Amino acid sequence: MITGKLFLVPTPIGNLEDITFRAIRILKEVDVILAEDTRTSAPLLKHFGIDKKVYAHHQHNEHKAVNEIVRFLNQGQNIALISDAGTPAISDPGFLLVRAVIHAGLTIECLPGATAFVPALVNSGLANDRFCFEGFLPVKKGRQTRMKELVTETRTMIFYESPHRLLKTLNEFKVYFGNDRQVSVARELSKIFEENVRGTIEEIISHYQNNILKGEFVICVAGK
Ligand code: SAM
Repeated sequence: MITGKLFLVPTPIGNLEDITFRAIRILKEVDVILAEDTRTSAPLLKHFGIDKKVYAHHQHNEHKAVNEIVRFLNQGQNIALISDAGTPAISDPGFLLVRAVIHAGLTIECLPGATAFVPALVNSGLANDRFCFEGFLPVKKGRQTRMKELVTETRTMIFYESPHRLLKTLNEFKVYFGNDRQVSVARELSKIFEENVRGTIEEIISHYQNNILKGEFVICVAGK
């Protein structure tokens, strides 16, 4: 029997024009779409005329769901995984499924496409020949340990952060990395109010103490 394929399909992080022709074609061709939040993805799918069965695949059901998804793939179904925005499995559900599909000896294709950390890094003007992606810092347990580990990091570090924790995180960076470390904060990438603020940690803190703390943020911090 011919087995199916798992496609990881990036979706826009703000600007709908950032979906690829291939992403649209794959989403139209697969048998089933797995979405992090079916309600969030519905307008996107409708916009591109994609009318498919969509099932929820999120952090609360992915452990349970992976075996069943592998079974569908084994039966020959082609399946696409999308997240709310950007590339699935990058600070989003997907890793467990990818690992299970590889273990089952089945095929995966991750399409190249939108993700927030690449434009944030490139816009930052910080060294990008070597960098490390830190995603979201742990909220409580392990947070200080992670910060301490990063004190000696020489590569540019990339963090995802929510608006309500941005200032707290920048203030902690000040303690661990010092006032003068260069930082770049990308806000609302690819959207109407996109903004990239660059400077020392101290300057960035003062900017965000006096400006809007709304939207989505990526923080890039120069290495030591
Ligand atoms: N899978 C996504 C990716 O490929 O980038 C990341 C999903 S993660 C749950 C969401 C975080 O990504 C946000 O909190 C923010 O840090 C970052 N992000 C997503 N879209 C963004 C945007 N348009 N501008 C800035 N940051 C963004």
